[in-house]
Amino acid sequence: MFSMAHNTGETMKQKIAILCSGGDVSGMNPALKRFVEYAHARGIEPYFIHHGFEGLIDNNITPASYADVTGIITRGGTKIGSARSKRFLENYYREIAAKNLKALGISMLIVLGGDGSFRGMERFYAEQGIAFCGIPSTIDNDINGTDYCLGVDTALGVIKGSIDQIRDTASSFRRAFVIETMGRNCGYLALISAMTSGAELCLIPEIPVNLHEYKGCFQSQISKGRDYFIAIVSEALQNTHEISQWFEKELGFESRISVLGHIQRGGNPSVYDRLMAYRFVTYAIDALLEGKTHSVICYTKSHFTFKTIDEVALHPYRIDEELLNLGREQFAPSHCQM
Ligand code: ADP
Repeated sequence: MFSMAHNTGETMKQKIAILCSGGDVSGMNPALKRFVEYAHARGIEPYFIHHGFEGLIDNNITPASYADVTGIITRGGTKIGSARSKRFLENYYREIAAKNLKALGISMLIVLGGDGSFRGMERFYAEQGIAFCGIPSTIDNDINGTDYCLGVDTALGVIKGSIDQIRDTASSFRRAFVIETMGRNCGYLALISAMTSGAELCLIPEIPVNLHEYKGCFQSQISKGRDYFIAIVSEALQNTHEISQWFEKELGFESRISVLGHIQRGGNPSVYDRLMAYRFVTYAIDALLEGKTHSVICYTKSHFTFKTIDEVALHPYRIDEELLNLGREQFAPSHCQM
């Protein structure tokens, strides 16, 4: 009798799962830790889905315990893995994924990913009725509707550290360093990095410039003793080599390229990313328990709000105009200090 009553109580507990989809970011592990702890605090059972939508299809779903998240808060990446999934684009595999979740009694999902992942989840919700809340997670900070995406602050810290170190060697050797940051089509990482690292040039798609307009000013700086340049270039422009050659050909300045690449994705999660992971996950779980079925939690003007997939996925992200104006002013050829 006692054991039956006990079992009935157990089966009535709501179950929630979390997965990471697309590119990983530093901040995912702190999010997983908060997920397990807060789910328990709210009396629901937490599950991990390993390797994104692939794990959902392959039934790679495990109960999540405190032991699973011990010691992970300091680590970049994601303990449960992330993936892109071609199969999830097909209805056949989404049905298998839904069967796996339903067999385990999981009715709610938290998805750490980008707008593509949220689009996929919206479809999944419409077809299968599995509620979800998306948490914007990408170092590119290019998701419309949110001022902040998980992972950005840690990535900016990694970039800052790299530029500072490159500056040491650049200044010793009389060189121009052209440093390429990630960002896909968005110049956010490059802009913030250039503004906060004392770069001479910032080249991003959002602020078009004509390189030749800097020539006179840079020549004047060289004649007065400048012995190095730091140029920050967004990968979106795909012209890092051209810029490096410009320094050599037009200014006669030896130039080196440094493509920062995937180091920007890793690293010990910053305090800000740990805190944002904590807050995103807390409010996402609260929202699902309050009955929100298909939303993305966004952070706008210092507040958390819930938006529809269309609000985040229909329009491209635009860097805040105030920041762009500051960048335009600082890096305009007309403001170059002779
Ligand atoms: P991100 O989430 O970073 O924008 P992607 O655009 O690569 O990354 O999307 C991640 C995954 O989301 C894809 O591999 C796919 O499995 C799923 N997905 C994206 N769009 C859809 C869609 N329209 N229908 C179903 N699944 C989708």
